[in-house]
Amino acid sequence: MMPAPEGLLFGLAGIPHSCSDDSSLQAVGQVRRLGLEALELEFVQGLKMGPETAGRVRLAALNHRVKLSAHAPYFINLNAEDRGQKMQSQDLLLNALRLASAAGATDLVFHAGYYGSRSPEETYKNIKHSLQEVLSIARSEKIAARLRVETMGKKKQFGSLDEVLSLCRELEGLLPCLDFAHIFAREGRINSYRDFLQVIKKVEKKLGRSALKKAHIHISGVKYNQTGELKHLNLEESEFRYDEWLQALDDAGVAGTVICESPSLETDALMLKNLYHSLREKRIDSGSGE
Ligand SMILES: [Zn+2]
Repeated sequence: MMPAPEGLLFGLAGIPHSCSDDSSLQAVGQVRRLGLEALELEFVQGLKMGPETAGRVRLAALNHRVKLSAHAPYFINLNAEDRGQKMQSQDLLLNALRLASAAGATDLVFHAGYYGSRSPEETYKNIKHSLQEVLSIARSEKIAARLRVETMGKKKQFGSLDEVLSLCRELEGLLPCLDFAHIFAREGRINSYRDFLQVIKKVEKKLGRSALKKAHIHISGVKYNQTGELKHLNLEESEFRYDEWLQALDDAGVAGTVICESPSLETDALMLKNLYHSLREKRIDSGSGE
């Protein structure tokens, strides 16, 4: 079957379990062999990939037609109280963006930072200012990869849906990474077809229809408590209603990339991909296609 135009591509973050080693290069080929279409390179523990490997990963992705994104290091905090730490975070984000671009990734996802002792309003201002500087350098260097600020699952982390959408609306060149497991875990809500549609409509209202046509999405099962996200789970082990979620994405015509971050990686990614395509076929069969 030909992949439907304008639909969602499915992939995973990191290295598939079925890979015999932990190289990103092998991961690209394996993603395609598994029947998946996207891979998020994990720079989460630091920028360890050299320029030569980045070039090879880029070529492999082109050959295998795998859509690449990347994830910046976890220790970035654009709201760090220490000025030096804040500047290091900006540098690290820029270097991650340069590396992502060199490796052929179209998007770099990052966690913006923590509130610490600051109010959400003050944190928002600080992060906005830090990002303005990063975006301006990225523009002057004409870096091709786009920055994607992620919706975060822990309440101590900056990145509610509203914060992320406002920031993206205000800063040219900044796009969201919609992590629906995080959006769910942060408040323990947003877990029905209607809730998911509301989130999607909000994205459209704040950022325009184009944001839905080039969405970058993270998903996994999730364990949470009153502080928000605790850990990722496989979808079957979690309360997350992924069937209603996929139906909402399809009905709203969302296109782009879905990256699976369940512990089972390819198992959940493939399950979602298959479910998504069966929903689409049903829609086309019943004549309710757009
Ligand atoms: Zn993340």
